[in-house]
Amino acid sequence: MAIDPICLMEVDEKNAPAKSVYNGQTFYFCDEACKKKFEEDPEKYIDVEGKEEN
Ligand SMILES: [Zn+2]
Repeated sequence: MAIDPICLMEVDEKNAPAKSVYNGQTFYFCDEACKKKFEEDPEKYIDVEGKEEN
């Protein structure tokens, strides 16, 4: 399961109603409305500054 970064709902990757790739990462959304919100301002919803891969 993935988490919709907008409403924090669990979304099944295989049946996600909407998805978007940002910064090389795929995000899944419960519907197009959440996806739209995300694409308007992705960095508001994802933790860009706290990104540490090691
Ligand atoms: Zn949602």
